[in-house]
Amino acid sequence: VLGIGGLVSIGIALFAGLFLAKRALIPIQQSWEKQQQFIADASHELRTPLSVILVNLERLFRSPGRTIEEESEHILVSIQETRRLNKLVSDLLTLARTDSNELQLLKQTVPMGELVEKSVQTFRQLATVRGISIETDIQQPLEMSGDQERLQQLLVIMLDNALKYSYEQGVIAVSCKRDGHGISLIVKDSGIGISQEDIPYVFDRFYRADKMRSRKLEGTGLGLSIAKWIVDAHGGKIRVESEEGKGTSFIVWLPVKSG
Ligand code: ADP
Repeated sequence: VLGIGGLVSIGIALFAGLFLAKRALIPIQQSWEKQQQFIADASHELRTPLSVILVNLERLFRSPGRTIEEESEHILVSIQETRRLNKLVSDLLTLARTDSNELQLLKQTVPMGELVEKSVQTFRQLATVRGISIETDIQQPLEMSGDQERLQQLLVIMLDNALKYSYEQGVIAVSCKRDGHGISLIVKDSGIGISQEDIPYVFDRFYRADKMRSRKLEGTGLGLSIAKWIVDAHGGKIRVESEEGKGTSFIVWLPVKSG
């Protein structure tokens, strides 16, 4: 009853339907694969400090005669690894909440100039101990609409990295100024820098440039992906400029009024 023409039309419609359905499924599959990769990476990162803590505790358990002084190095390592674990879990929770769209910004008027000044103050002592100086060029008053807690978290991530990857006696320059409809925030250090091959990946989850070298420094490889989420959520932009052995600048632009 359909005839050849009808059958061909049904065939074409079926083929087009299947093709479109497959295309629609690709993003879902990619997002699922990304989640699987995230879980695999997270498990791997969690296992490393856990194994170190376990080995150290077993060692202490097997040598009851030894004093705390004699075992102080193993105890210290366990404390450091527990700290790392703590940071890792809290960063992972933040990212999991951003993935499920649970983390929403709480918008208010943020005194950005003051916030930057205060954040720098909290890092000054740590910097001084290592002979590092922090220079500031902060416009006051400088206000924007945003989530104060998240913006502070962004500053902590940027300043913590600048300090962590600085050489002793280095200089960190922090500037925060009005720039068009927004605020430009720059944290520049004179530290180890990032190689050109590593630059495209620094905002990726768990990415740590030059693993051997970074391993000696505490970190989770999640800070910059959280920083990027915070900037994107405010409708801003973040980028990095760096030269190996010379230093790095993280350059952020945030709109004063975000939607
Ligand atoms: P981490 O916890 O390892 O610091 P981040 O996500 O904050 O994780 O940074 C990712 C990687 O980018 C770091 O491991 C480091 O290799 C590189 N990086 C970040 N900030 C700097 C900086 N200021 N100077 C040099 N390298 C940096």
